[in-house]
Amino acid sequence: MSESKKDLLCYKKTNFYEVATPEQIDAAYDYAKDYMKYLDASKTEREAVATSIAMAEAQGYVPYTFGMALAQGGKYYYNNRGRSLFLFRIGSAPVAEGIRICAAHIDSPRLDLKQSPLYEDGGFGFFKTRYYGGIRKYQWVATPLALHGVVIKQSGESVSITIGEDDADPVLYINDLLPHLGQNQNSQPLGTAIPAENLNILLGSRPLEGEESDKIKMNILNLLNQKYGIVEEDFLSADLSLVPAAKARDVGLDRSLIGSYGHDDRVCAYPAMTALFENPDAARSTMVILADKEEIGSDGDTGMQCELLLDLLYEIAKAFDANFGQMKANSICLSADVTACFDPNFAEVFDGKNVSRINCGVAMCKYTGHGGKVATNDASAELVAFIRRIMAKGEVVWQAGDMGKNDLGGGGTVAKYISKHNIPTVDIGVPVIAMHSPFEIVSKADVYTAHKAFAAFYTLD
Ligand code: MN
Ligand code: MN
Repeated sequence: MSESKKDLLCYKKTNFYEVATPEQIDAAYDYAKDYMKYLDASKTEREAVATSIAMAEAQGYVPYTFGMALAQGGKYYYNNRGRSLFLFRIGSAPVAEGIRICAAHIDSPRLDLKQSPLYEDGGFGFFKTRYYGGIRKYQWVATPLALHGVVIKQSGESVSITIGEDDADPVLYINDLLPHLGQNQNSQPLGTAIPAENLNILLGSRPLEGEESDKIKMNILNLLNQKYGIVEEDFLSADLSLVPAAKARDVGLDRSLIGSYGHDDRVCAYPAMTALFENPDAARSTMVILADKEEIGSDGDTGMQCELLLDLLYEIAKAFDANFGQMKANSICLSADVTACFDPNFAEVFDGKNVSRINCGVAMCKYTGHGGKVATNDASAELVAFIRRIMAKGEVVWQAGDMGKNDLGGGGTVAKYISKHNIPTVDIGVPVIAMHSPFEIVSKADVYTAHKAFAAFYTLD
């Protein structure tokens, strides 16, 4: 009697493994395999755009350009400068009834090359870097790194560079101090023990014969010139980044977890797309946004603050003679981004009652931000009730969870840059262990429930 009353009255998180059938567990593990391939092929936003376009084209999506006619049943993608992507399909319901939007981001914390990066010192060649996003600098030393990106020559010619992913490739590296001489460094705070200007990329140590000076730098430039046809000035017009060279791997003896660079936020981007492709006939029009620059504030022409979203929504409204304001007001957006997962090794930073738990499904955050709900999109009770309703209808294992204890820090998402356009928005995403580290951990069950949750969002009311 007392137990049934507890069931009736208390909010309890559901562990996926307690309710899933063996077939559903197999489905979650199978889903993870394809997700891991996506991760390995999408380590930068440019690569994620390319792999996502290939996925979309296989589903019949066609490139959209401004001014093009839009048709009911049409499936389109807008490639924004190769660094952010909008996928949208027009359903049978009037677009004035609103678009279901799922917005994830495809940039991840990393190290970018400085404008003029190459130098030699102490018998080694190095690249100078500028870190991108919220990295913990001590995690990036003494680990294999890969160089990814493009050089655009003055002529406009684009040269793609990937070094360190093929098993036959060399990898790159950042030196760390030996413990024998680390006494002073050991007493430094974690945040400053590795200064940002020490994150220099080790490139080699062999001199170029016949050179008078800068022999090692010259050897590296010569190698780059032979392989890619570039000269030192070409670094000025390049987007080159260092990312971990490791591939996505199963983690744990039960293989229930996935370790990888860049789960944040491909772990929401990928399910946002697979759920879209699984429901090609949903009545409501649907849009998936894969944004760039989230990790550095969503600024710029490929970030979520760019007015491109409005331009595209305006074109959709215009094409079907819908009222633009009404269409936006009736739209709903999921800001699909990761959240912190309870970690018993650091239990003290979490509010145990309000944190996301591993394997308890995709997690909704009513508010993000920091301090007294500063810089957050605080989703309304009405919108959260809608989420509860569609999750129940779709039989999705999901949970509510926020980042951590009050006043310990916090973080933002793209949510506030979408809701400000009069589009109700709520944060939902996969819980992550060791977020922003070179090898983040998520649960296969939670990734699978993200796919289920987004499918419910696209199809249910
Ligand atoms: Mn994120
Ligand atoms: Mn992040």
